[in-house]
Amino acid sequence: MIKSAKFIKSCVNIDGTDELESLSQIAFVGRSNVGKSSLLNMLTNQKKLAVTSQTPGRTRLINFFEIKIGDTNIHFVDLPGYGFAKASKSQKYGWGENITEFLTKSENIKCVFVLLDIRREPSDLDLAMLHFLQTHGIPFSILATKIDKISRSQALQLRKKLSSSLGVADADIIMTTAKDKQGRDEIFTRIQLKV
Ligand code: GDP
Repeated sequence: MIKSAKFIKSCVNIDGTDELESLSQIAFVGRSNVGKSSLLNMLTNQKKLAVTSQTPGRTRLINFFEIKIGDTNIHFVDLPGYGFAKASKSQKYGWGENITEFLTKSENIKCVFVLLDIRREPSDLDLAMLHFLQTHGIPFSILATKIDKISRSQALQLRKKLSSSLGVADADIIMTTAKDKQGRDEIFTRIQLKV
């Protein structure tokens, strides 16, 4: 399904991102430590494409990857993790502005995957992100991460709770884990419907 994946560029802010709008973009966003880098590596079958870090909040750049799926080239856009508790307030909101600026200005975003840790209540920033996407009419899907950390029945229960609190259908929340590639096919099916 996925034929190749390579790192293209990191941007500190939206300067220089407009030249990367020629390909369809699939963006990934979530709070620091939610498992975004691990998921990107799992999706692309690479160990180190996206740099995972044990230190939450280290990945503060907008990272572009070119992905070949079948005969189609697209960009995965890895947006900075938000809401790192130890970051200063100005940093925290600085990243937030970068993210929202990119999401508003880029004209070729086909879907934003919002990652939420299945075990945690969505934070205020998660809810603000979902609200932002809804009000701007930016297409998004929710990925519940790290489901290997709990049992299948717990995961189903938590997904139900999450879907009703967010006002979306259960099926709109894809359950994933970077450990055994669960959710991978479903994510690519969704991507292929969008690009
Ligand atoms: P990011 O900050 O969102 O990019 O998160 P990382 O991918 O760096 O992951 C943060 C931490 O969660 C690391 O210690 C990972 O090993 C761990 N992690 C990420 N994904 C999973 C997963 O699916 N299952 C489990 N058990 N741990 C995960």
